[in-house]
Amino acid sequence: AKHVYTFGAGKAEGKAGMKNLLGGKGANLAEMNLIGVPVPPGFTITTEVCTMYNEQGQEKTFELIKSEVEAAVTLVEELTGTKFGDKDNPCLLSVRSGARASMPGMMDTVLNLGMNNDAVEGISKKSGNSRFAWDSYRRFVQMYGDVVMEMKPASKEEHDPFEEIIDELKEEKGIQLDTEFTTEDLQELVKRFKAAVKKVTGKDFPTDPWEQLWGSVAAVFNSWNNPRAILYRRLEQIPDEWGTAVNVQAMVFGNMGEGSATGVAFTRDAATGEDVFNGEYLINAQGEDVVAGIRTPQEITLSGSKKWAALQGISEEERASKYPSLEEAMPELYKQLDATQQKLEDHYKDMQDLEFTIQEGKLWLLQTRNGKRTGAAMVKIAVDMMEQGSIDEKTVLQRIDPNKLDELLHPVFDASAIKSATELAKGLPASPGAATGQVVFFADEANKYPASVLVRVETSPEDLEGMHIAKGILTARGGMTSHAAVVARGMGKCCVSGAGAVKINYKTRIMTIEGKEFKEGDWISLNGTTGKVYEGKITTKDPEMSGDFAKIMDLAEKYTRMSVRTNADTPKDAQVARKFGAKGIGLCRTEHMFFEGDRIKAMREMILSKTETERRKALDKLLPYQREDFEGILEAMEGYGVTIRLLDPPLHEFVPHEDANQKEMAAEMGISQEEVKALVDDLHEFNPMLGHRGCRLGNTYPEITEMQARAIIEAAVNLKNKGVDARPEIMVPLIGTVKELKLQADIIHSTAKKVFEEKGTEVEYLVGTMIEVPRAAVTADKVAEVADFFSFGTNDLTQMTFGYSRDDAGKFLPVYIEKGILKNDPFQILDQEGVGQVVKMGVEKGRGVKPNLKVGICGEHGGEPSSVIFCDGVGMDYVSCSPFRVPIARVAAAQANI
Ligand code: ADP
Ligand code: MG
Ligand code: MG
Repeated sequence: AKHVYTFGAGKAEGKAGMKNLLGGKGANLAEMNLIGVPVPPGFTITTEVCTMYNEQGQEKTFELIKSEVEAAVTLVEELTGTKFGDKDNPCLLSVRSGARASMPGMMDTVLNLGMNNDAVEGISKKSGNSRFAWDSYRRFVQMYGDVVMEMKPASKEEHDPFEEIIDELKEEKGIQLDTEFTTEDLQELVKRFKAAVKKVTGKDFPTDPWEQLWGSVAAVFNSWNNPRAILYRRLEQIPDEWGTAVNVQAMVFGNMGEGSATGVAFTRDAATGEDVFNGEYLINAQGEDVVAGIRTPQEITLSGSKKWAALQGISEEERASKYPSLEEAMPELYKQLDATQQKLEDHYKDMQDLEFTIQEGKLWLLQTRNGKRTGAAMVKIAVDMMEQGSIDEKTVLQRIDPNKLDELLHPVFDASAIKSATELAKGLPASPGAATGQVVFFADEANKYPASVLVRVETSPEDLEGMHIAKGILTARGGMTSHAAVVARGMGKCCVSGAGAVKINYKTRIMTIEGKEFKEGDWISLNGTTGKVYEGKITTKDPEMSGDFAKIMDLAEKYTRMSVRTNADTPKDAQVARKFGAKGIGLCRTEHMFFEGDRIKAMREMILSKTETERRKALDKLLPYQREDFEGILEAMEGYGVTIRLLDPPLHEFVPHEDANQKEMAAEMGISQEEVKALVDDLHEFNPMLGHRGCRLGNTYPEITEMQARAIIEAAVNLKNKGVDARPEIMVPLIGTVKELKLQADIIHSTAKKVFEEKGTEVEYLVGTMIEVPRAAVTADKVAEVADFFSFGTNDLTQMTFGYSRDDAGKFLPVYIEKGILKNDPFQILDQEGVGQVVKMGVEKGRGVKPNLKVGICGEHGGEPSSVIFCDGVGMDYVSCSPFRVPIARVAAAQANI
């Protein structure tokens, strides 16, 4: 098999479609060559080699690919007219990771590889620029030391050991910026860096370029399993088996002087989705300088630059002289870059995130990929591209990551609350949204408060988990393409970056803004849409659904087969869900209705009853409440089916367990506390979730079912008399045998008949059942003879199929996931292999005897995209989920059908 794919000078052995083998970066480097975009030559070692490396070890793997790598290096030498390891004309390389799915900054990169005491002289002579040569050398020692030799800070409060040395030398020389270092200073840095490596690792810094190359390749493969990459994969659901490719590429230099630069750009705005080219660059810089926030990056376009200056409160004169845009500083190269970005976007037909370097007036592209974006940008870009004619409707829907729509459903700051808030500082609007929380300064402390805002000078890939936990992120340094900004947008997390007025002292854990001090735990608020930072807590309100969002919903409607219902217990929830496009209620739980006000008293009377007569008396008190509730909810969902589940939880949930509360109940009911206690003890069960609940209540106390059926049917009749189209679907929970359902259905039908006779009006209604006990699924052909519909209650079905108690699984599920026993939490993502097969069997057996049996799902899974797609596959008529997940389920349902 082939293990190495070369690219360069307009030719490539790979192409964009080979992401699985070459990783995203490698596949696109090849593709860019093929479409005539200037890319430094190089080669990609495949992801299969990474897998082999992990399974069979380094020695065997490297032996196998050695000759291919050597041949590829020879090709790079030919195309660049240099020689790897040569004294006078050395070839310098970059070694870069690149997985199938982009994992920005998660794995490692080494630049300027091939440097040693000889090569630096050769580069220096050849370029006539010894400062540049030594700058590249010290960068190489720093990166190689960090990535391959694992030089790390001693503790989180400490700096990177190399940065410490840089700071020391700056102090000795009385300078502020890296750019002020002289050639001699850089030579001194290389010396001190190497000494530090020797001191910390006990090893000499390698001088042999081949040793450097293989060391770096190994480091990239190893970085696939570094903790931050593992965590990133877990958060983004990327399989561990994929592995990373390694890209080895000739270096181009953005640090050769004032005619050189490096930058990062987006073909559209990744925060808002606006169709404007934007990005940042630095003159005389290399690689990660832009993202790392070491110097303030400058905007690429003039308009972007002006906007930036306005946000930072920088005058036009200062901006133009100190921070000119690329458009002003290098107009010809700007034109080329602008043409290239357009070409790339047209080619890939999606927003691109690109990396470029200008070496002495020549433009090179180093990377392009579909850019990470916020939920709002995702929606706007897809709709705009459709309206611009570049993608069709189905592609628009496929571009929507349903889970990301969640961001658009998040609250924003209340307009009046924000008016009276104190503005502390202004940074860049790096990732939109509103966040309020307590200040923390370290990512691993983000969980110290229920709502925290992570405040950092800048973030790094190590901070990922904390960024995930925090409500928002504020950085003092870094631009729109800084690590914090890019990652936050990917997560849909509110972020304000580069707020220069924020001064942070990690040691004292204090942030100072214009003389005002904020300690850890103090409240602040961020508006990621405007870049403003506020003092204290600010109230939020719900967002509006309109514009492009509505267009996506219309497309979902057009292409879906299944409909989406909602799980709602109140008219208000039903109305919210209707606004989001819910067509009916898939689960209305009646027990919630028993807790309000006086109702619990009647409920407890019912439970306390010793005889049927007593019980009926108590139930009579509950009837009007229930009827009123059902009228409200049936009316709110007028015209659509409303599935109402009969009483489900064990009765002990309705009685108090605390001493004081029992006393209160005793007084209220006019009985002794002992009696209450005796009742509670009597209701105690060892396994309540497998105990006296669901239809087992209705079958032991049929009068409960009778009352609930009456309330539902009376409500529907009353509404019909008012001209409201009410469509009740009565659902019997937790059946395992058809007889359990049959007896309940008989009560419901005879009650309905009575009500119709009393009222002289009839309504249509259905009687169906929840399928949540595995036995019900296995005998679904029998059950279907009695049921008008099935609703898969996949929470209980998962609980009973796995035998995992939902309420106790927290103790072992995380361990199971970590050990790979389970891929994910089966209560969140439907286990298609096991529970899903039970569902499938239930649907098939049920439809086998009743072809038009209505089938849906009402577990939490009904709002989870991969599970929704599964439900479409087994032929369900609808999924049902909580109101705020309705739009997500609608898009997933449409995707399932295209
Ligand atoms: P990441 O996946 O973290 O973005 P990359 O492999 O893209 O890592 O490398 C990081 C940076 O190194 C890039 O932004 C680019 O500027 C720089 N870089 C990589 N390869 C080269 C090269 N051949 N010449 C010059 N700069 C390079
Ligand atoms: Mg990159
Ligand atoms: Mg259940």
